[in-house]
Amino acid sequence: APKEKEDAKIEGAVQIAIGVKKEVDFPAWYTNVLIKADMLDYYSVSGCYILKPWSYSIWEEITQWFNAEIKELGVQNSYFPMFVSQKVLEREKDHIEGFSPEVAWVTRAGNSDLEEPIAIRPTSETAMYPYYAKWIKSHRDLPLKLNQWNSVVRWEFKNPQPFLRTREFLWQEGHTAFLTKPEADTEVRQILDLYRRVFEDLLAVPVIPGVKSEKEKFAGGLYTTTVEGFIPTSGRGIQGATSHCLGQNFSRPEMFNIFVEDPNDPTQGKTYVWQNSWGLSTRTIGVMVMVHGDNQGLVLPPRVASVQVVIVPCGLTAKTTEESRAKVNTACEELVKTLKKAGIRAKADLREGYTPGYKFNDWEQKGVPLRLEIGPNDLAKQQTLSVRRDTGAKNPVDLANIGPTVTALLDTIQSDMFSKAKATYDSSIKEITHWDDFVPALDAKNIVAIPWCEVEECEDDIKERSGRASEPQDERAPSAGAKSLCIPFDQSRWAPIVAGQTKCAACGKDAKRWTLYGRSY
Ligand code: AMP
Ligand code: ZN
Repeated sequence: APKEKEDAKIEGAVQIAIGVKKEVDFPAWYTNVLIKADMLDYYSVSGCYILKPWSYSIWEEITQWFNAEIKELGVQNSYFPMFVSQKVLEREKDHIEGFSPEVAWVTRAGNSDLEEPIAIRPTSETAMYPYYAKWIKSHRDLPLKLNQWNSVVRWEFKNPQPFLRTREFLWQEGHTAFLTKPEADTEVRQILDLYRRVFEDLLAVPVIPGVKSEKEKFAGGLYTTTVEGFIPTSGRGIQGATSHCLGQNFSRPEMFNIFVEDPNDPTQGKTYVWQNSWGLSTRTIGVMVMVHGDNQGLVLPPRVASVQVVIVPCGLTAKTTEESRAKVNTACEELVKTLKKAGIRAKADLREGYTPGYKFNDWEQKGVPLRLEIGPNDLAKQQTLSVRRDTGAKNPVDLANIGPTVTALLDTIQSDMFSKAKATYDSSIKEITHWDDFVPALDAKNIVAIPWCEVEECEDDIKERSGRASEPQDERAPSAGAKSLCIPFDQSRWAPIVAGQTKCAACGKDAKRWTLYGRSY
């Protein structure tokens, strides 16, 4: 049958589709997938990339979902300028110390030097908070909850990686102010849970929510919560998104002086507001690509795929009559209509002059979750052949009732992709209680959970000791030293830490909580 011949042809083509195997040269695989899936192009400024429609549409899905959720929480969108004056930027000492090595400055306009250089925001705390001080005059102005969708610039010098670490990136940054700490604490966790859902429910990428160590927390903040992801192929952790409680560090009189009269005790004078800031960036897309992609290319979770189902006419040969050909094409178009009515993002690939094999390969590289093949024989039987991108599983599906069938199938693909990634993540977390097992576990592409003392010098020491590379590192690869990734909120997967008894796996002092350590991006 002609169709089988086509299948055989693709089988051959698929082998070379991405050019490099994921397990063999992961960095090259990653960039090849991005280029071949038409997600990204390189740009003339190093560390900056063009997000093409195929990846931008994923960002749009994320933004739409997240926007609706934060609006439910009473957050409003606004826009602040990208420029920050030097004086304002440098007001919070810890904050600027954290960011100054990466701040880009505008020093010239046309032919003349600016009197004072102007910074491009690396994040907008300092740009926004002078106005919070102006706008928040009474406790009735609280809570103030603003968000902006924008880009920020961090002139990073360590290995740029598309999506994961770029010099300009798209994100949202939320900035909120409350009267009390409990209110701020509650919101930190609500936002973090939305971030968890972006990764787990939309991108089918498992993450572990937790709190950052003092060393790894946001510069100038009180504490940082994070959802930590994992890239199995490199065995590295990656910070997914962060929700910070800034405490009163930015509202203090020496900083931005944001206060209200205490409503409970007007004679007492000033209460400095409690602030949070939280951000999720286009890094999400890179993590998704790395977790799900395979040697045929991208694999998209249905929830964020701009094309969820592609319909390819098949089995048309030189001998096929014009009438039969037209019938198949019409059936494809009808099918698109039916699926769209069922709320499915479907597309028929009716391009002339391309073999079905070519089309299969093309859409596989681009990661479309489900392909439906229709030929004259299928049509005679009133069915179509469904082919899953994630597993390759092929199953005939009746055209009757196709909307609900495909909806259910897409849901199955979504949850199977998550389960598979979750099983891998879970099995890559090694419980370590003796230092001697620490580096070997990392070398075997795991992250580790250790009972940890939570002392900063111990973290420095762990980084140093685990960084004495046991194997030579690829020049493009990030550091070999392990960082703390997070202290998971859910400590229940490990044996309880007994105060005064359980010891830190790194230094032997009393351990406080189980902490995830790993090499990371
Ligand atoms: P931060 O304001 O540093 O907490 O950053 C918020 C989030 O943005 C982080 O959790 C990262 O996921 C992401 N992010 C930070 N730096 C970059 C970068 N250079 N490129 C892309 N995403 C980034
Ligand atoms: Zn220790």
